[in-house]
Amino acid sequence: MFKDCIDPGHAGQNIDPGAKNQVTGLQEADVNLAVSKLVAHYLDAAGHQVTLTRTELEQPETDSLQYRCDVSNNWGADVFISLHCNAATPAAKGFEVWTSPGQTQGDRLATCIYNQITREFPDRVGRTDYSDGDPDKESKFYVLTQTNAPACLVEMAFISNAEEAALLANSTWRDRMARAIARGITDFHSQ
Ligand SMILES: [Zn+2]
Repeated sequence: MFKDCIDPGHAGQNIDPGAKNQVTGLQEADVNLAVSKLVAHYLDAAGHQVTLTRTELEQPETDSLQYRCDVSNNWGADVFISLHCNAATPAAKGFEVWTSPGQTQGDRLATCIYNQITREFPDRVGRTDYSDGDPDKESKFYVLTQTNAPACLVEMAFISNAEEAALLANSTWRDRMARAIARGITDFHSQ
């Protein structure tokens, strides 16, 4: 049975809310958790085993990135997917999928998820780096380099952009994003 570890970015609320929309006050950590729980729901329905590195709106131990990696590694996850929302200047928008540098199984996982998000949201901007032949961007994010499983990090949209912050707050959009990510994970396992 496939073991999927979903990592809702940031510890939440007063500890580390992540990025915030300055107008609406929408917090990244809350969005990450809500979408992660939906992803877990769909993977569970598909017969996968799922664990979340954070299950509460505010969870102090998750302020440690090593804790999150330990949850995944100790459990023996087959994949690790971290969910985040981006922030930059108000005009910036789109989604990104990140992996660690170099070609690994994480690149294949990222491409599966990227393709499903593109299929679900043809109107959204995929922010890509095709210099290495695939759409993911690469960086030495701690949770990507210190996890044993193929890993990627999804920046679902920009919480700092008014249009995308409204999407991130929308339950229908969250559900569509969660299903797209879950389908990408299922694709990875079935290829
Ligand atoms: Zn984040």
